[in-house]
Amino acid sequence: MTEETKAATDFGADVFGEDAIKTYLSKDTAKKLQATIREGKPLDPSIAGEVAHGIRHWAMDRGATHYTHWFLPMTGSTAEKHDSFLELKDGEPIMQFSGKNLIVGEPDASSFPSGGIRSTFEARGYTAWDPTSPAFIKRHSNGATLCIPTAFCAYTGESLDKKTPLLRSMQALDKSLKRLMGLFGRDEAHSACTLGAEQEYFLIDKEYWKKRPDLVLTGRTLFGAPSAKGQQLEDHYFGTIPDRILSFMNDVERELWRLGIPAKTRHNEVAPAQFELAPQFEELNLASDHNMIVMDTLRNVAEKHGLKCLLHEKPYAGVNGSGKHNNWSVSYGGKNLLDPGSNPHENAVFLTMLCAIIEAVDKHADLLRASVAGAGNDHRLGANEAPPAVISLYVGDQLAEVLDRLAEPKKAEDKKSKAAGEPMKIGVDTLPQIPKDATDRNRTSPFAFTGNKFEFRAPGSSVCCSGPMTVLNTIVAEAVDRIAGELEKAKVAGKAKPGEHTAAFHNALQKILQTSLKEHKRVVFNGNGYEAEWMDEAKKRGLPNAPDTPSALKALAKKENYALFEKYGVMTKRELESRHEIFLEEYSKKVRIEGACARDIASEMVLPAAKAEYLETAKAYEIATQVGVSCGTTALHDSLVELGSGMDALKAGIAKLDEALGGVTPAAEADILSSMQALRTAVDSLERRVSAARWPLPKYRDMLFLY
Ligand code: ADP
Ligand code: MG
Repeated sequence: MTEETKAATDFGADVFGEDAIKTYLSKDTAKKLQATIREGKPLDPSIAGEVAHGIRHWAMDRGATHYTHWFLPMTGSTAEKHDSFLELKDGEPIMQFSGKNLIVGEPDASSFPSGGIRSTFEARGYTAWDPTSPAFIKRHSNGATLCIPTAFCAYTGESLDKKTPLLRSMQALDKSLKRLMGLFGRDEAHSACTLGAEQEYFLIDKEYWKKRPDLVLTGRTLFGAPSAKGQQLEDHYFGTIPDRILSFMNDVERELWRLGIPAKTRHNEVAPAQFELAPQFEELNLASDHNMIVMDTLRNVAEKHGLKCLLHEKPYAGVNGSGKHNNWSVSYGGKNLLDPGSNPHENAVFLTMLCAIIEAVDKHADLLRASVAGAGNDHRLGANEAPPAVISLYVGDQLAEVLDRLAEPKKAEDKKSKAAGEPMKIGVDTLPQIPKDATDRNRTSPFAFTGNKFEFRAPGSSVCCSGPMTVLNTIVAEAVDRIAGELEKAKVAGKAKPGEHTAAFHNALQKILQTSLKEHKRVVFNGNGYEAEWMDEAKKRGLPNAPDTPSALKALAKKENYALFEKYGVMTKRELESRHEIFLEEYSKKVRIEGACARDIASEMVLPAAKAEYLETAKAYEIATQVGVSCGTTALHDSLVELGSGMDALKAGIAKLDEALGGVTPAAEADILSSMQALRTAVDSLERRVSAARWPLPKYRDMLFLY
């Protein structure tokens, strides 16, 4: 085995996982800790001391001198505050890490957004260990830190982070699934949500990045005329990965493998300089933490390769933006409930789940849309490269036909045509083989069934998975719970073993699903989501369309949505209100930063370049006229007119944007964005008139073609 292949066998070497637990803890303690992890229960305080001692030794053997509670504040990134193991005891240095230090932390952290949940002078925030996500080692060039994944709450117990609601939503879904599966005669079992998050990103040479204040400050280019060649030839997608990039990817994967993150797939994406990394799916909470580490690792490793990793949803205008496809599924007792199965009983479970998900997505499309809202994603959703801002659900032609036969058996019978098929009888009929072939997938749908999982494609590349996944779990928990309730009311579920259900049970289930489907199948759409006709059709069907963040976030302030999250114990009204406030404020701040940055670049970099070009041209014109050459003067004269009018437009654009930036009304962000767009038009047309040597910003053709 070579050094390189050995890296793969180092999988999980920097994670306090099963091997480390066995090596560093006594048999008894190891057993208790593993039970805690499996069942997601709080840690038994009596073993905390020994666990902390073991983790410290394990971490110190890997070069760690510090530890931190690692958490996901509402900023959307990860947070850490390091403490060293070093303590002075009677003047002597010793290394210490107590059980208390492991279980809770008081980082204070009063500057994180809390949306009014606590004032800085009020109670502190505290972090609590989440044993279901194992501790890991974060290395830097001359040392290492032990990271302990935690939830971050106020003393009142209200969540201040993105992990707590996710964990609660998983519990809610678990409870609903147990209720439903019990009715299907299944013994109580462990349920698990799974997530595979495909991560798209751009790479840019660091030297170019440094020269673009817009990329440095906002993560996207606010100006830039299109490159003659962009993605027209589609020659980048799945193309040969160049050596420089491949060596970057290799380093990323090695770091991820050491951290127990199963990075699996890597390839070039559609836009030039755009790539994707996909891990193998894992349990949701872990996968969500892991995606945060993936983003961190991409950024850190890029630095070592003289690159910058752009995780913004739309770094460049005119070429594709980046998303993060959230592949999600649920399993019960180790069996995937979104796998259609092979017999009528398994098919019945599958169809129930499918109908529950359709019901959930239709009823709460507004919440799903809100969960992916953000200043960056606004440039992507609905831009004919990413799913539209209207949430619909794709099931493929075969399942669509099954659903029709289930929802409207009369119609199916009446037509008596082969296409319409026979009515679908739950518990009797089996489903057709559903293709899992990737080529058969509809890539324009925001929420697509792909064989044995749903792929939520609307989340932006920089988003923390927990937001959209919290919503998805909660709305599915509600639908499953409702269907289970109806089944209970029908009093048909006996103690039947799987496969031995009575016809009465299946008939009752069939009626429940029919009613649900009739009401909610409007959300099912199998056509091309990029076509303009779909927008008209969606409107006719009454599907909500929130084109931007402020309109999407309104869902978080609806009475019925407070009730939903409260009922399933995922978020209190106050927690939801705080999120609404935080997200709106974040949006407003981001737009204002972009606006100010655009104004500054235009006035401090572009305008002086245009003036210099004008001056040079004017001098040439003057000299040419003085010496009496007639040829060339027309060209010089016309260039002066073009440059002059371009500068006038630029000045006007700067003034208008400046004025918009002074606005404080709620509509001010829309004003800022439209003024930025007008200014961009002026700047991008000047780019064509000023010599490339003088243009103060790296051009699209330079930045996008790395090699
Ligand atoms: P594509 O680009 O065609 O969508 P990929 O192979 O890039 O496919 O990504 C598919 C993702 O879905 C992977 O992360 C994979 O592990 C994940 N996945 C597969 N099965 C499940 C499942 N049951 N639950 C969650 N994710 C899954
Ligand atoms: Mg995908």
